[in-house]
Amino acid sequence: MLAGIATLRLYSTTMPPFRKILIANRGEIAARIIRACKEMSIRAVAVYSDADAQAMHTRLADEAVRLGPPPPRESYLNIERIIEAARKSNADAIHPGYGFLSENADFAEAVMKAGIVFIGPPPDAIRKMGSKTEARAIMQEAGVPVVPGYHPHPFAGEGVRDAAERLGYPVLVKASAGGGGKGMRVTRSSAELSEAVAASRREAAHAFGDDSVFLEKYIENPRHIEFQVLADSFGNTIHLFERECSIQRRHQKIVEEAPSPFMTPVLREQMAAAAVVAARAVGYVNAGTVEFIADESGAFYFLEMNTRLQVEHAITEAVTGIDLAAAQIRIAAGERLWFGQSDVTQRGHAIECRVYAEDPANDFLPSVGVVEQAVEPARPGVRVDAGVATGDEVTIHYDPMIAKVIAHAESRAGAIRKMDAALAEYTLRGLTTNIPFLRAVINHPAFARGETTTHFIEQYLSEWEEEGGQESEVGSQKSEVGSRRVEDANPWTRADGFRVGVGMVGSGTAAGRERQTNTRRQSAWAGHGRDSLEAAMPGQVRAVLVQEGDSVEKGQTLALLEAMKMEIKVAAPHAGRVAKVLIAAGQVVQRGQTLFELGG
Ligand code: ADP
Repeated sequence: MLAGIATLRLYSTTMPPFRKILIANRGEIAARIIRACKEMSIRAVAVYSDADAQAMHTRLADEAVRLGPPPPRESYLNIERIIEAARKSNADAIHPGYGFLSENADFAEAVMKAGIVFIGPPPDAIRKMGSKTEARAIMQEAGVPVVPGYHPHPFAGEGVRDAAERLGYPVLVKASAGGGGKGMRVTRSSAELSEAVAASRREAAHAFGDDSVFLEKYIENPRHIEFQVLADSFGNTIHLFERECSIQRRHQKIVEEAPSPFMTPVLREQMAAAAVVAARAVGYVNAGTVEFIADESGAFYFLEMNTRLQVEHAITEAVTGIDLAAAQIRIAAGERLWFGQSDVTQRGHAIECRVYAEDPANDFLPSVGVVEQAVEPARPGVRVDAGVATGDEVTIHYDPMIAKVIAHAESRAGAIRKMDAALAEYTLRGLTTNIPFLRAVINHPAFARGETTTHFIEQYLSEWEEEGGQESEVGSQKSEVGSRRVEDANPWTRADGFRVGVGMVGSGTAAGRERQTNTRRQSAWAGHGRDSLEAAMPGQVRAVLVQEGDSVEKGQTLALLEAMKMEIKVAAPHAGRVAKVLIAAGQVVQRGQTLFELGG
């Protein structure tokens, strides 16, 4: 595994860097870090919410501490409870994983104040990189190219319109506190600008509690290319080459690879140098990722820095042979980097596919359920980092990403073949997953050619539907639930009924279209009787936006649900009058539960 870095001074097993680490996370990443701890003879402490009392990470750890009820703010986002758990279990250090509190500077600070080591960068670096506008300003100062943009304080008035004209449409409205693709709006003309700014602000306020937004020139057909960096606390900063993560849905990555098929040696050198400068500019320590977008001409621009371990870190581990989780732990323990830049090489090609509990044929609607059977692929060059095993439950409370499959081979074509064989072999019964869709992505001729821009999915696979298999089984089950409920509710309604229209708010595609998906079984409006609108998946009602008796237009948002970190819009399938409102804010609804009755 460590080809090319034979000069490394390897970690000595006699003296573990810490005695005990608490992992403030769940799912596959918690399992990944627990495994790293075990290898280093460090005791691993898991924390869990009531929904995860039997979860994989809870089972794997040497000790587990209950945090509280399932909602993240009462469990995995609750700083006091996590620190209390670390104190109670006498942990020397906390690893935050990714997501949750991993990029929360206040958390890092609170951990350090409690006399516990935070396995991550200094709070100041997190804070600087946490604001996209502040990070842009620091990068400009340091000479790292940023996307042309506009971010005055305050952001308002005629200046905004003029700036958008100067940048040239299309422009992108972005949330300063952004993350997870939230709060982004592509704007193609001045007529759309104020609405886009307002929508972005609303979304940002809800998602981040901060409604500041800014403008960026929208780069057409870009590639997302990022560099892994590693820095110790003695001023040594190196990079571990790039990952290309252009295959995205809702601005979120689903397939990543290293090296990037777009890369040339010259571009690699320039981007790597910029990544190291970026990390140094904020006094970065530990593992981090500098993200860029590159346009068709090869010009590249800084997007942001992720101040944590990335989901896709495993492809870098595959091509460099360096264990990033272990490196994070050793650096946090104060070790000096035990190898230099020239010791790191890229060997072969690695691809990662993110396995989600979701239905790609239905606008990637997340799915929940019990994993009836999980059998992971096993073959040379394949690694599976999973957060679930047979019998585990995927609930509405957390992210629907359940596993990652990483394939490593000598060549890109070999890695694609290996990945396809691994995905074909991966059995996950009981849930709707995106595995068939991932296979469609990697087997697409454009993917084989390396034509991977961020628009890949909408360009080639927007009409994708699975042939036979899993989908038909789940599909028939769905319509059964739907029709039974609808018939019960009203004999006048057509038996196939309506499923609630769902649109992922904050998930506008790169082209700025608001996704508005009704299920494919949506019936035509018959002009009489009532229709029952049902929940297409379980979730919690965040807001009910109409009252009984209201007239509504086709497509109007009637309510907002929340499930698996996403806001799901309940839209009217046709114009009509709200006959009955059967839900209230805060209520948890089940799949197939009637939410509204809508009359003509
Ligand atoms: P987030 O922090 O919400 O993930 P990023 O700034 O990292 O947001 O961007 C996420 C994705 O959105 C990028 O990978 C790219 O696909 C797209 N994107 C972001 N900025 C631009 C831009 N200026 N032009 C075109 N696409 C962009």
